Amino acid sequence: MIEVPEYSVPLARPKLGSAGKTGFWRTSRPVIDYQKCTKCRLCVIYCVENTIDLMPDMYPRIDYDYCKGCGVCSNVCPHEAITMEPEVK
Ligand code: SF4
Ligand code: SF4
Repeated sequence: MIEVPEYSVPLARPKLGSAGKTGFWRTSRPVIDYQKCTKCRLCVIYCVENTIDLMPDMYPRIDYDYCKGCGVCSNVCPHEAITMEPEVK
């Protein structure tokens, strides 16, 4: 069995595409409440853009350069620790 180091998720990473960095598509932004987060990592697993990294302290961090604001992470978080807020441009 292959052991996956905890720090290596996500296994794939977004990169600059022909449309540039996709974060500017966002109309709403996920904001993590670290008081509620239990480090369960579901948001990391489900993020459709692989834009959530785990920090050395195992808390998730969102890369807003590529997050498209789809809201999946907010929906899967079992502790309602991620809130979608209007994007201020
Ligand atoms: S899904 Fe929610 S509780 Fe779990 S790591 Fe993400 S923000 Fe934290
Ligand atoms: S809003 Fe979508 S793209 Fe952005 S971090 Fe959450 S799941 Fe990933």
